Amino acid sequence: MRFSTKAIHAGQKPDPLTGAVMTPVYLTSTYVQEELGKNKGYEYGRVNNPTRDALEANIAALENGKHGMAFGSGMAAIDAVFRLLKPGDHVVVSHNVYGGTYRIGKMVLERYGLHFDFVDTTKLNLVRRNIMKSTKMIFIETPTNPTMEITDLSAMARLAAARKIVTVADNTFATPYLQRPIEHGIDIVVHSLTKYLNGHSDMLGGMVVTNNAKVAERLRFLQKAAGGILGPFDAWLCLRGTKTLAVRMERHGESAMHIAKWLTSQKKVRNVYYPGLPGHPQHKLAKRQMKNFGGMISFELGSLAAAKKFLKRVRLCAFAESLGGVETLISHPATMTHASIPPAQRKKIGVTDGLVRISVGLEDVDDIIDDLENALYSV
Ligand SMILES: *Cc1c(COP(=O)(O)O)cnc(C)c1O
Repeated sequence: MRFSTKAIHAGQKPDPLTGAVMTPVYLTSTYVQEELGKNKGYEYGRVNNPTRDALEANIAALENGKHGMAFGSGMAAIDAVFRLLKPGDHVVVSHNVYGGTYRIGKMVLERYGLHFDFVDTTKLNLVRRNIMKSTKMIFIETPTNPTMEITDLSAMARLAAARKIVTVADNTFATPYLQRPIEHGIDIVVHSLTKYLNGHSDMLGGMVVTNNAKVAERLRFLQKAAGGILGPFDAWLCLRGTKTLAVRMERHGESAMHIAKWLTSQKKVRNVYYPGLPGHPQHKLAKRQMKNFGGMISFELGSLAAAKKFLKRVRLCAFAESLGGVETLISHPATMTHASIPPAQRKKIGVTDGLVRISVGLEDVDDIIDDLENALYSV
């Protein structure tokens, strides 16, 4: 099956009891057992649930992976992946990952003996130089949030495999419609379902996909042991979302390209970060690795005052955290998603006070541009 077909059908069969075409929401915490040691494969809701199973199979299929494990949020999924490690292990992480990934590494897991180094993973040499004997995992995000840096998935997978280091890619920004890290040799893919996969800003969730049976087994054990699982209703909402992923991502990419080009011609905009622009430092790699360039753009307005003024004036675009919904969202990384990163580190990775990030929605692109234009120039 091809992508759009899998998005609609993978993991989902008509309900055996009624023939319902859509997977029911199995709102139950427990399942009746026929006799001692005999059940229908379901015992308790923390371990498994048929609606969650359907979503796990659906997204695993979209990533071309064998195993999917759903969690209560993207951060719960990332936390579970880091828990595959042991005290003393070292992790190399893309230097401008999602702020929450930085936070759980530096402020939570380092207290349990893991070590994290944040490195510019667009430069393989730098990654190589930061690898130690104790390095057990390389965690990358591509495109990165918010400066849209692209890491070479295949090259990173090769570099790590030669050293028996596990690779993880956070594929939240691209989604499996635009790129499938497992096909490049990456071992583990993580997602915040909250964003494009659900696509309607009405639930939170996370997913881990892998082809490695041992990793999958450990993650299933962690679902049961730590309990950070996704509830059935949220799983159902996300299943509804993935059905339209292909058409949504086409339109997000098309509109974002249009807006990115428009932004580059605005005199109040100093710099536009979008991998689809020929001037983007990894444009060629993005073209090779991604189906289109996605729906996320960042741009530089030069100062906190300019950003503040602009954000106060947008009307159609909602000033809010998050991304990947049908509606256009605008945010200010330095004070929102990246607030937990110390100012010096923020500066180093290009998250300036004048940087604004836009998640281009599915409204008419000319209405979005009208709103941006009005916010930039009205006095
Ligand atoms: C939002 C996000 C996360 C965290 O996901 P939650 O569902 O909010 O916990 C992780 N990585 C990226 C790239 C994200 O955008």
